Amino acid sequence: MAYKRIVLKLSGEALAGEQGFGLSPKVMRSVANQVKNVADLGVEIAIVVGGGNIWRGKIGHEMGMDRANADYMGMLATVMNSLALQDSLEQIGIETRVQTAIEMRQVAEPYIRRKAIRHLEKGRVVIFAAGVGNPYFSTDTTAALRAAEMEAEIILMAKNNVDGVYSADPRVDQDAVKYDELTYLDVLKEGLAVMDSTASSLCMDNDIPLLVFSIMEEGNIKRAVLGEPIGTIVRGKA
Ligand code: UDP
Repeated sequence: MAYKRIVLKLSGEALAGEQGFGLSPKVMRSVANQVKNVADLGVEIAIVVGGGNIWRGKIGHEMGMDRANADYMGMLATVMNSLALQDSLEQIGIETRVQTAIEMRQVAEPYIRRKAIRHLEKGRVVIFAAGVGNPYFSTDTTAALRAAEMEAEIILMAKNNVDGVYSADPRVDQDAVKYDELTYLDVLKEGLAVMDSTASSLCMDNDIPLLVFSIMEEGNIKRAVLGEPIGTIVRGKA
């Protein structure tokens, strides 16, 4: 096992599967099983869930909405996804806690760092919902922040449409090459579509590695945790 404690970032799109919106029961089952296989190894797993399959603040803003309001809607979308994921995990017997960065005590626990760490130590999967709780941020930044707070060894960034970081969009450009390794400086300098620059800087400053990989291939989360060479790894230093 290469890692003892991980943060898994699941974008909303990754949970939507091929349809690109809403939740795919097939993908939810596959993700839950993959998480179980890794939890069974004794790996401590925190999951940050996105909301782009339901709503993105940017879209609302482009429609003329107040940006902060639109972003709060995005954060609420992540809560819906988190509850769905909790359900999928609990259906196969994995103890799970959802913690929200915006308080909604009837729905889930509020985010408390020490409590989250305690859950992880007890073998519970912790799902972080509602992003960092502030507009103008993303769930990628949330993954970076929670990884630092949890002292996780790596962020596993699961993608549903690509198996790593490429020099250009491989669906559009046939000459796009896949990188095996990168630094955050490369990502920032070349403007590679890995994560937003706030998230990249936070990872770089705190020396948190990131593995970008495809979740569509069954067993990939386990391969990632075992340190097998899949996807693209981004590090603080070369
Ligand atoms: N969001 C936010 N603050 C956060 C995290 C998310 O305002 O800390 C909002 C933002 O509007 C974003 C939406 O929630 O567009 C959904 O999150 P994100 O786009 O990161 O989801 P993903 O792309 O991972 O599905």
